[in-house]
Amino acid sequence: MQPVPIEKVKGIGAARVQQLQKLDIHTVEDLLCHLPRDYHDLTQLYTIDQMRVSVPWFGKLEIVSEPSLSYPRRSMNIVRAKAADDTGTVALIWYNQPYIRQQLEQGKTYFVYGRPDFRFGQVRLLNPMIETPEHHPGARLLPVYKLTRGLSQGALRKHIQQSLDQFGALIDEELPRTLRERYHLYAKRDAYELAHFPPSRQVRDEAVRTLSFTELLLLRTYLAAQREGARAVSIEKMNPVVPEDYYKLLNFVPTGAQMRVINTIAEDLQTDRPMSRLVQGDVGSGKTAVAFYALYAAVKNGRQAALMAPTELLAMQHYEAAQEMFTPLGIKVTLVRAGMKAAEKRAVLEDIALGRSQIVIGTHALLEQKVQFEKLGIVVADEQHRFGVRQRARLLQKGEGVHALFLSATPIPRTLSMILYGDLDISILDELPPGRKMVQTRIVPPQKREAMYDFVVGKVQDGQQAYVVCPMIEAEDEEDNRSVEQVYNELRRKYPAVAVGLLHGKMKQSEKDKLMQDFVQNQVQVLVSTTVIEVGVNVPNATVMVLEQADRFGLAQLHQLRGRVGRGEQQSWCFLSTEGIDNERLRTICMTEDGFAIAQADLQQRGPGALLGTEQHGRVDLHVSLMLGDGRLLEEVMQAFDWLHEPEQEVLYTQVVQAAQSRYAQALEQIALN
Ligand code: ADP
Ligand code: MG
Repeated sequence: MQPVPIEKVKGIGAARVQQLQKLDIHTVEDLLCHLPRDYHDLTQLYTIDQMRVSVPWFGKLEIVSEPSLSYPRRSMNIVRAKAADDTGTVALIWYNQPYIRQQLEQGKTYFVYGRPDFRFGQVRLLNPMIETPEHHPGARLLPVYKLTRGLSQGALRKHIQQSLDQFGALIDEELPRTLRERYHLYAKRDAYELAHFPPSRQVRDEAVRTLSFTELLLLRTYLAAQREGARAVSIEKMNPVVPEDYYKLLNFVPTGAQMRVINTIAEDLQTDRPMSRLVQGDVGSGKTAVAFYALYAAVKNGRQAALMAPTELLAMQHYEAAQEMFTPLGIKVTLVRAGMKAAEKRAVLEDIALGRSQIVIGTHALLEQKVQFEKLGIVVADEQHRFGVRQRARLLQKGEGVHALFLSATPIPRTLSMILYGDLDISILDELPPGRKMVQTRIVPPQKREAMYDFVVGKVQDGQQAYVVCPMIEAEDEEDNRSVEQVYNELRRKYPAVAVGLLHGKMKQSEKDKLMQDFVQNQVQVLVSTTVIEVGVNVPNATVMVLEQADRFGLAQLHQLRGRVGRGEQQSWCFLSTEGIDNERLRTICMTEDGFAIAQADLQQRGPGALLGTEQHGRVDLHVSLMLGDGRLLEEVMQAFDWLHEPEQEVLYTQVVQAAQSRYAQALEQIALN
């Protein structure tokens, strides 16, 4: 269906539109794709004596005290009530939700959901969710959604039901019936309805499977068609540039894997088809040296080369490294920065347009229309998982007939990469430069946290440096005290002799750059930050990585973050500070440093959705966040694609290609590049 703006749904007004926008919901389809993150099972209730600290609990409670509202501080108010069932009593506490008091009545029973904790001698539920089931007669599983301020579960449920009633009939069936029957998929409208309001867990799983399957198959088909299209273009061949000549420019001996991949790229460049290749290599595997060969080969052939990085910081690092290598050869390297003065920018753009700049480095702002090249031969996109399918397509469109090389430090299992990168050839850098020591990785329980920081400070006094990374804190965790600022203040107070720096996403770019520069020069010894440092930063003198609340990070993210250390001669350490005693992810990360093994474990433990999750991949290109529990889905999608691609199914294949193209064409138009 054509995108229907969300305000067309009855009952959604201007204020609601704004709230929904915060959740990235703009169209009816976005709303339907906002799948529940959980369900409250009205058929499976727990009692108070079954509460376990921190384990989500759902049950039916009677309010046994008059709910009270107090204002202990100016910026804080608290609603309290006592609740009970046959097995005990529990305190209910809400921070800054004064309206809850009116919703509760002493003597009445409610369904209550929350995570119990135990403080001041009592069992408490902090900010629990209250369900009044008379609003949902006959429901067995109530959907629970990610919300935003001002939007309640009840309101969101109502809007979703209304969208289905009003627009359900317009939802396109993207997959032909024969295919749906063969692979046991629901009709799409039904799949939406059953995913939001399922009669049972099993039906819900099948409905979500339908949505995920459809999404992945369309993506696979779209990328396959893209690839066929790209292969049909013929371009001028490049002359061979002997890798051995390039190796002389390096101040190290390339690994066998680097040589193998460089040879493959050299071959790609000598054909009359544009290269579109992905190089996957773990953090520290030396992708930069591979990328620089491609830049060098293009320049040797009289073409320009562009290198794009996901952050200003990384672009800067690449720029410095490229200057060091190429300036002595008389090759002009240019950095395109955000926030250049108008005159400077004009001069830079002119250099590029006239071909005076041979190697151009920047963030993906390089994709902007304003940047025109004289004779672009190759584009390299570093840390490409931050770019995503749509931007990749955009890039390939912009430089039609241009070679493209993508670098990714996120190793992902083969099945997943065949779907996500179906338009690319894939090379793997599966060897680390020699002499790397294992990063010693330890789980640190709360009682050892102090000793850990003493150890960190000891290393710092020896001249080494450390990162301390805290997870993003969501608004609901009012009581959480491990946010970056708190950790930062704590460390400054306890270790006044140490230069501690604070880096977070809300800081201005110039402030971030300044701070990183200070860290690179060891003016800052301990860098406390949110996950903004995750990508690509290279400071070999940093030997300690502390991850606060490590259980909040995904496996791939833990792996990426650990990859920031272990880059120099010294023994490096990674500490996973956590209150959770038993965490499979943390144990996995302690056991191995092999990114592919970690990715495979992630796939098994959390399913493909986790690997594609926004935290690790920037904006996900898929409409439905995939929530299925295992990797079998991927195999099934691959099988379905292969079946569809057989000559006998040509008619079906063409239909699916069209559906896929219209979906992604829309998506491509919608993407706003900054
Ligand atoms: P990544 O794959 O994470 O982008 P980099 O290209 O930043 O890795 O390389 C990490 C570090 O390893 C850099 O300091 C680089 O100079 C060094 N390096 C790369 N290849 C080799 C090699 N073959 N031998 C020794 N050091 C290398
Ligand atoms: Mg890199």
